[in-house]
Amino acid sequence: MSRSLLRAQPAAPSAGSGQAPATGSPQAAPAAPPVTEFKPLRRHTGIFTGRGGTIGWLASPAALVVVDTQFPDTAAVCLAGLPGRAGRRLDAVINTHHHYDHTSGNPVFKPATRTIVAQVNVPKLQFAAAEKSGDLDKQVFADTTFAEAWRHDCGDEVVTAQYFGPAHTGGDAVIMFEQANVVHMGDLVFNRLYPYIDRPGGASARGWVKRLDEVHQTFPVDAIYVFGHGNPKFGVTGTRDDLLVMRDLLNAMLDHVQQGIAAGRTKDQITALDNLPGFPDFHVPAPTRLPSILGTVYDELTAKS
Ligand SMILES: [Zn+2]
Repeated sequence: MSRSLLRAQPAAPSAGSGQAPATGSPQAAPAAPPVTEFKPLRRHTGIFTGRGGTIGWLASPAALVVVDTQFPDTAAVCLAGLPGRAGRRLDAVINTHHHYDHTSGNPVFKPATRTIVAQVNVPKLQFAAAEKSGDLDKQVFADTTFAEAWRHDCGDEVVTAQYFGPAHTGGDAVIMFEQANVVHMGDLVFNRLYPYIDRPGGASARGWVKRLDEVHQTFPVDAIYVFGHGNPKFGVTGTRDDLLVMRDLLNAMLDHVQQGIAAGRTKDQITALDNLPGFPDFHVPAPTRLPSILGTVYDELTAKS
């Protein structure tokens, strides 16, 4: 998410364990050190939760790979505690997209990794967002980029990153550990949380719906999916059915706005909604971020170009 977006919005819903989207402003940073946890998933892979987007990792005798980097403080905890690292350099750090709660730990990982990988739009979007927020000096950018796909063979594992098109931003990659059969979705899934749609950052709600269908059809039925953010009840891992829950929510938001436009209602009338009927798992106490998100959807649907 972008800082400017966040400043204009009420706080993100409480999600515990630092798994909600980070709030971004220094004033909102927790006073106590964030609670962090390493959780193994399957075949040398796992997740690290702290503050910001969920970090995915591969830590085998042959390879070390990290997906996303959160913030400097939790990135340092992650780097220091990566299972079985024993001082080895990482083969790669992959950024699923440019948002600062997924890339602000890049400076911590940079000296310990061979390369930082991201979709080709990510450094540009990261630069533009950092320039706007005055944080250019804190940025470390990907030095390996790809347009459609990137593949890395490492020991007995193959890591891929794929770009499907505009969705949460204009540079979202889906990362897969093929042998482990684990797929990191970045912020393409906010697991039962209202999502951020970063329109200035190249997002498309309509594109996002398509991307989730495509991803759902691309990867194995029994893959474990990792999500950038999740509400505490549902967590940050799941199955491909959870992708369709996210898709259905986005579709319902698009339908709500489209029907309002067709009925001749104003933007203010259409977006004045604290929770979306039919999706109780997403519901949070008012005031919620939904009006702002619906406003973004409205802007997309009424854009001239
Ligand atoms: Zn994001």
